[in-house]
Amino acid sequence: MRLWEQNFRDVEPYTPGEQPKDRNVIKLNTNENPYPPSPAVEKALREMDLARLRKYPDPAAEELTEAIADYYGITKDRVFPGVGSDDVIGMAFLTFFNGPKPVLFPNITYSFYDVWADLFKIPYETPALNENFEVVPEDYFRENGGIVLANPNAPTGVELPLDQLEEIIRRNQASVVIVDEAYVDFGGESALGLTEKYENLLVVQTFSKSRSFAGMRIGFAMGHPDLIAALNRVKYSYNSYTMNTPSIILGAAAIRDRAYFEETTGKIIRTRERVKKELAALGFTFGDSKSNFIFAKREGTDAEKLFRTLKENGIYVRWFSKPLIRDYLRISIGTDEEMDCLLSFLRQYTAD
Ligand code: PMP
Repeated sequence: MRLWEQNFRDVEPYTPGEQPKDRNVIKLNTNENPYPPSPAVEKALREMDLARLRKYPDPAAEELTEAIADYYGITKDRVFPGVGSDDVIGMAFLTFFNGPKPVLFPNITYSFYDVWADLFKIPYETPALNENFEVVPEDYFRENGGIVLANPNAPTGVELPLDQLEEIIRRNQASVVIVDEAYVDFGGESALGLTEKYENLLVVQTFSKSRSFAGMRIGFAMGHPDLIAALNRVKYSYNSYTMNTPSIILGAAAIRDRAYFEETTGKIIRTRERVKKELAALGFTFGDSKSNFIFAKREGTDAEKLFRTLKENGIYVRWFSKPLIRDYLRISIGTDEEMDCLLSFLRQYTAD
């Protein structure tokens, strides 16, 4: 090591899913929405005054914050927008987890949580999911410096029922509980209502999946105004202009179009349920996913090999090398046509 390297912050980074250059592949590897954003977004984009780009954006992203607050029927002091939920959750780790007790999150969950914890030098422990990939609530009934639960969980898609989640929150009012609802719009039950009851609960959602906006980078947290104010103090101590002007304008247009959102998420849910049946018929097993992906394995099938073979054939899914889940593939729900291609490939593969 060279001398000037000794004070580097040394972290093992998160590995994002692959974004292949070839646009012709069937891309079922990063849980993107297969449908385009709302037509209202296209209209807002065409009408956007480019001269606005000359100026700095509104640091509070009022237009977007208000549109989100309106959509959920809450006040805007309960909303904190950010550059994707990664930005929001990272900011929440930095803001709320600053003590000596360990933060708790499951051993199998979104693989960014331990990266942020390492980056910010936050101690953490990872209680194991049970054999059905379910959170065991009792594991969270103990002293901690905070709790983070993705619900539905990633990459399993399994949902912790709201009454069990509430019990975890109820017993942990001395620390902040973050519920990451990146996938909640595909049939899950949101904990948003509980933020009125529990001041220590922060619910985080994203435009990336259910609003077809992964490329725009918009996420947001909702919770008690004191939690939101604390997030803002940290945000304004780091980067005050997180949201750029196009994302403020187009994000507001996207969330106002409730009908389009319901139509597209409904289509994805219907496709998912059909694909579940077809995968089961091919011998795959999986939990009851409430997300826009299915986390599946097949007895006697080498998941890594299948992942590579699919890729060679232009179908991208996600495979994780982590020992506990290396037998699984995470398959995002695409259009019906895309899923039919996948299924016909799998039919042949499993018959050989
Ligand atoms: N949470 C979970 C559980 C996720 O799977 C993802 C997507 N990688 C995110 C948060 C972040 O999504 P985004 O930053 O696009 O909002």
